[in-house]
Amino acid sequence: MCPYAGHAYICVIKKTITVDYYKELSSDVRFVEGLTGCLHCGTCTAICPAAEFYNYDPRIVAETVQTRDNNKIHELLTGNMIWYCGECMSCKTRCPRNNAPGLLIMALRALSVRTGLFTESEKGRQQLVLKRTMGEWILKYGYCLYREEMTVEDHPEQGPTWEWQNKNLEKLFERFGVKYRGDEPGPLRKIPQEALDELQRIFDVTGATRLFEFIEEKSAEKAAEMGLEFDNRLDCRYVNQLYNLDSGIHTKD
Ligand code: SF4
Ligand code: SF4
Repeated sequence: MCPYAGHAYICVIKKTITVDYYKELSSDVRFVEGLTGCLHCGTCTAICPAAEFYNYDPRIVAETVQTRDNNKIHELLTGNMIWYCGECMSCKTRCPRNNAPGLLIMALRALSVRTGLFTESEKGRQQLVLKRTMGEWILKYGYCLYREEMTVEDHPEQGPTWEWQNKNLEKLFERFGVKYRGDEPGPLRKIPQEALDELQRIFDVTGATRLFEFIEEKSAEKAAEMGLEFDNRLDCRYVNQLYNLDSGIHTKD
C-alpha cells in the first residue's frame, strides 16, 4: 500500500500517470528554495563535480522541470539522471539566479521514492541498499555510518588494512582520543537506548518508517518482476545485483 494512501500516487503504482508532478514538487520546500527561474547559462554544469564524471547535466534537470511537462518529469523520476548528484551544493554558490539544482534533485528523488518510481532505474533501485544500511544503522546505533557493519566481505576493495582496522577499532580510535562506544560524552560514543527510542518515534510520526516499508515493498515487487531472489539479507540476489551491476551507461567514456 502506498505511504500516501488515498492519494493519486496509487494511480502511478498502477502505471497510469495521473499525478501532476510539478504541483507535487511545488509543495516541497527544497524545490521552492532550489529553483526560482533558470536562464540556462550552464554555470551549474560547469562547476558540478558529478557532471565531470557521470552522464549528468544539472542545467538539463532544471530546464526539464521548468517545462512543467508531466511526461518529461516522469522520465526524470524513472531514470538514472537524478541519482548522479553528490549533493555538494557547489551549484548553489555560482548560480546567477540563486538556484540550487542540488536541492531540486533532492525534491525529485523524494518524489521518485514516494511514487515508487525509483525501482525503474538501476541507480534508483539502490535506495534499498541505503535503507538497509545507513537508514537502519541510524535507528540501531544512532550513526548513519557504523564501522563494524562495514565488513570486509561487503567491502573487499578496502583490502587488508580494513580487516586489521576492524579487529583493532578500540585501539585505533584511542590514538585519536576517541573512547569508541564509551558512555562518556564525545565523538563515536554509545548512543543511549532512550535516544534511539526517540529517534524511532520521530521516524514513526514523520512517516519515515512507513516510507522505509514502502521501499521494501516496491523493491520486492521489482525483484519478482526481474526474477531475482529477495529477502531481508544484505546479500540476497536482488541486493547483490544492486551492489555489483554496472551496465556501463552511467559514466563518461
Ligand atoms: S547556473 Fe542557475 S541559471 Fe544557470 S543553468 Fe544552472 S540553474 Fe540555471
Ligand atoms: S549539488 Fe549536485 S548538481 Fe549541484 S554541483 Fe553538487 S553534484 Fe552537481
